[in-house]
Amino acid sequence: MLTFHSLQATPVSVPLAQPVRTASGTVTHAPLVLIDLRTHQGVVGRSYLFTYTPLALKPVVQLLENLAALLKDQPAAPAAIEQMLDPRFRLLGNTGLITAALAGIDMAAWDAAAIAQNLPLMRLLGGVPRPVPAYFSQGMDGIERGCELAQEALDRGFALMKIKIGYPTLAEDIATIRAVQNVLGSQCALAVDFNQSLTVPQAMQRLRALDDLGLAWIEEPTRYDDDAGHAQLAAQTHTPIQLGENWWGTAPMQASLAAGAGDLVMPDLMKIGGVSGWLRAAAIAQAWRRPMSSHIFQEFTAHLMPVTPTAHWLEYLDIADPVLRQPLQIVDGKAVVRDAPGAGLAWVDEAVQRFRVP
Ligand SMILES: [Mg+2]
Repeated sequence: MLTFHSLQATPVSVPLAQPVRTASGTVTHAPLVLIDLRTHQGVVGRSYLFTYTPLALKPVVQLLENLAALLKDQPAAPAAIEQMLDPRFRLLGNTGLITAALAGIDMAAWDAAAIAQNLPLMRLLGGVPRPVPAYFSQGMDGIERGCELAQEALDRGFALMKIKIGYPTLAEDIATIRAVQNVLGSQCALAVDFNQSLTVPQAMQRLRALDDLGLAWIEEPTRYDDDAGHAQLAAQTHTPIQLGENWWGTAPMQASLAAGAGDLVMPDLMKIGGVSGWLRAAAIAQAWRRPMSSHIFQEFTAHLMPVTPTAHWLEYLDIADPVLRQPLQIVDGKAVVRDAPGAGLAWVDEAVQRFRVP
């Protein structure tokens, strides 16, 4: 049995090859916390967390270090860790940065468990390696750049691309979608993401206008926690509404589905509660018969999609590549999961030192 020795949490700020522009702000650097969970048996489990803003980097590191002190010499097994730590947050509430920190430990503990068994994570979970359909996830890049990226999507064999919209006017949204679709043709479908930028009345107007453009989905048109608003939009339009990257744990997922807020689900591995949370979300999606896509964390989710009953699309957005020794490979629009132990994370030490936040 693996037992917990120590945890190292390293804050880094990784420059993105291409800034991610959204209608709710631009991300030029990925603030990540790299986690190395060491066991007494010598196995090291790894994961990373994405804090979106550098303001949250140090608090997450501190939280992880505080949690590590509680785990010293305890079983390094995901369910045992959860059962031990969850009651500590009954009064504060297990959400936000608490959930993120616990998810980082959960992911690293699953990685360690798989390495200890000499199995890739997906095999430990009962799956077999298979290519995972991935989509080319892009930002709010305007027409010219959007069309260049659409060509890149075709060249790399993707069957789905996503762009972010929510330009100042509806006309700009439509012009951008049409131009990108024109390049993609029938080879590659297009989805769009509003990143919560619209009010419900604004969203109603835009979604109705976009409803006949053949979009694969429309993501987060209004505030992530407005289930009633999304339900109103879903009832009045027929393009699938995609929700889930802001569900902190599975309770909001249940509430959203019960409210009829959307059609498709895309939990975020960190916010949903790590690998353990993902498996619970996958069971919920199966019960509701909802196609389930992933949100970033592509290295881990490539292992999880093969064991997700309603697996839909893996989001391909390489925010951590500069610090990874073996970034996720895409061949013909599909993620290739390596048949090697664990989830496959190892750091490029020189890059970690260079991007380390002092
Ligand atoms: Mg999104």
